Amino acid sequence: MPARSLDQIVSLSKRRGFVFPGSAAYGGLGSFWDYGPLGAELMRNVKDAWWKAMTWERDDIEGVDCAILMNRKVWQHSGHEATFSDPLVDNKKTKKRYRLDHLLAAQSPQLLKELQAMLQRLLNAATLRESAQASIGWPDTVDLNWIMTGLVEYGHFLEPTAVLSMGYRHPEGHEFNMMHFKPTGKDGLRVEFAVARSGYDQTKTPLGEYDIVDVVRAQSPEWREKWYRHFSEYPPLIAGRPSSKPEDLALCIATAYRNRWHAAGLLMTHFCVTEPGTNEAGDWSQPRRFNLMFQSHVGPVEAAPGTEEELASRVYLRPETAQGIFMNFKNVLDSSRRKLPFGIAQIGKAFRNEITPGNFTFRTREFEQMELEFFIKPPQFLREGEKTDEQWHAEWVDARYRWWISLGIDTSRLRKRAQDKSELAHYAKATTDLEYLFPGSLGWGEVEGVANRTDFDLSAHSREVPEADLKRLKLEANKDSVTTLDYFDTEAKARYIPWVIEPSAGATRAALTFLCEAYHEEMVKEPPQAEIEALKTEIDAVIKNADKKKKDAEKEKDPAQRKHDPVAISAFQAALAEAASRLPASLMEIDTMLEDHAGAQNLEPVKKLKPKVNKLAEDCVRVVLKLHPKLAPVKVAVFPLARNKPELVDIAQRVSRELRHFCKAIYDDSAGIGKLYRRQDEIGTPLCVTVDHQTLEDNMVTVRDRDTMDQVRISLEQLPHEIRRRLQLH
Ligand code: ATP
Repeated sequence: MPARSLDQIVSLSKRRGFVFPGSAAYGGLGSFWDYGPLGAELMRNVKDAWWKAMTWERDDIEGVDCAILMNRKVWQHSGHEATFSDPLVDNKKTKKRYRLDHLLAAQSPQLLKELQAMLQRLLNAATLRESAQASIGWPDTVDLNWIMTGLVEYGHFLEPTAVLSMGYRHPEGHEFNMMHFKPTGKDGLRVEFAVARSGYDQTKTPLGEYDIVDVVRAQSPEWREKWYRHFSEYPPLIAGRPSSKPEDLALCIATAYRNRWHAAGLLMTHFCVTEPGTNEAGDWSQPRRFNLMFQSHVGPVEAAPGTEEELASRVYLRPETAQGIFMNFKNVLDSSRRKLPFGIAQIGKAFRNEITPGNFTFRTREFEQMELEFFIKPPQFLREGEKTDEQWHAEWVDARYRWWISLGIDTSRLRKRAQDKSELAHYAKATTDLEYLFPGSLGWGEVEGVANRTDFDLSAHSREVPEADLKRLKLEANKDSVTTLDYFDTEAKARYIPWVIEPSAGATRAALTFLCEAYHEEMVKEPPQAEIEALKTEIDAVIKNADKKKKDAEKEKDPAQRKHDPVAISAFQAALAEAASRLPASLMEIDTMLEDHAGAQNLEPVKKLKPKVNKLAEDCVRVVLKLHPKLAPVKVAVFPLARNKPELVDIAQRVSRELRHFCKAIYDDSAGIGKLYRRQDEIGTPLCVTVDHQTLEDNMVTVRDRDTMDQVRISLEQLPHEIRRRLQLH
């Protein structure tokens, strides 16, 4: 079974030198990682496998390696400057920040239904329906994407008071869920109750117009307190009026009304949108768009942001490698004399100032991409028998799926998922994501997207594009470009802008994927029952003892003074108890937990328990990375059976030197043979070679296979050939 949780991968990475937190001496830097000796090899192998599959094994693809920094106009015309953004929202209570789409996806269907209905009503009331309909549609069924875009794009236009007014009490005693406001004079506001709760009888109590002060006076003290606290966070609204008196609150409401202030956040707060992972309703800020591109400047610039001078020198760290390929379309076409269809491949760093990076290296702010832009003929220029854009798209989805499988991903954990219309990027006609089933709460996650980008990109960067095409692609004419990225079709005797199919994968995310798939824990020896029982008793004692520490910590009111974090201890106790119920299968898991769990730190009994668990785990369980030989960081490890026998050491060193001519081979004599095998299993080395006393007589060595643990004798003469064969290096 592959990894059950990302923690196993994080722990292995740290232990064996795959991945380390960046800038560690200074406490790290949010979600930046460094690849250690083994990680660097793994990354290189992943990229090599992709590069070879693209540019060596096919004869219709060229490779490029473009600069990371490009003219800012590239990002203006590609659409990234205006639209490459994520909507984010803050919970003012917990100070946590979320991507709005992720936050909404974690809410109940009922809440989303009610939120959407209210947003539609508010947009109607504010006569924004038509423009909303034109830009984001007006769905009849619950549509998460619509709610998200509605909140971000129209949140600023909603009347905050309309949101605030939900649940107001009418001065005559009835409850209403919407009011109309009419400004009067400088600070005043009159209120007309507009939408009554069901059951309200208008003939008995007419909808009157009231002064806002009277309306506020009619509300409950709790209501007044709640909104007073809310307004207190916004100094301009509360300045000089430190009280929750109805007059002051009324003035705040009037000011909020005038400033069209934070209505979408209020709406989310009112509907009790909860913080993911908890049942706690949040206090939400206005959602806003946040551009994900990192900025810098070329040359020394001291101008203020947004000034002409600043904009002229501004550059972005590329958020994708694709645009460099589009910039070089003509260069490659002309220099390599290619004809359509052909592709350009690139591997390189990309940077995104992600709002919620995390899940180890799954989402980081600096990562590597492996992208192919495959240029094809537009539909109207196809000749009989030539593949359409849709056929090419399907073909690339299949080809890329097969690549992942060929490197060891099991088909039960890899799926193709066509994006639905609401998910599609503005440039895409269709996109199919390849998703991998990551362990634990991460679940299905995109590892590669295959998009049909049509002629959007090359047209966006071209000077001469027919008016009809600009209209179709919703593009402005490009007056900045000095070229037209088109192609002369000698058979059709026509010039046109090609279409493009883009398979785009993350190299860093791929490395994580292969690690998750390859990770296995195998029980190689059944631990004695008596030892397991003793361990369980000791674990029970650790859990009980932790209870005491937790209570002591809770007594200390100032969290900064606490020696232990009670919440982390609780989580540790629960996880440990659950894992103990699965002993002996969970031995390794408990071993990792005692070492790494935040709630296990500084607990004395844990320190005592650790070496016992560690020893038993080492004796009975082997961690093995069943990486494809092409991906394994080390291909062969060579050992002498005894390090104090110079004749064995000499042969082993000579063998490893010879193997190094064609693969990564290492020599090791720092432990007994059993331990050396374990160490290599844990980092995924497919083959181990042992030189023993017999070798001196028959010139043969023992070759051990990582996965089956089978051992065979092979002659020294045959060894390089046999190793190549087994590593599939032919
Ligand atoms: P997501 O939906 O996960 O944010 P995306 O759809 O924005 O990804 P693309 O722009 O299609 O991603 O990028 C192509 C590939 O690059 C993704 O499939 C993923 O493997 C990788 N990738 C994208 N963003 C990141 C990131 N922040 N960290 C690591 N890899 C990433």
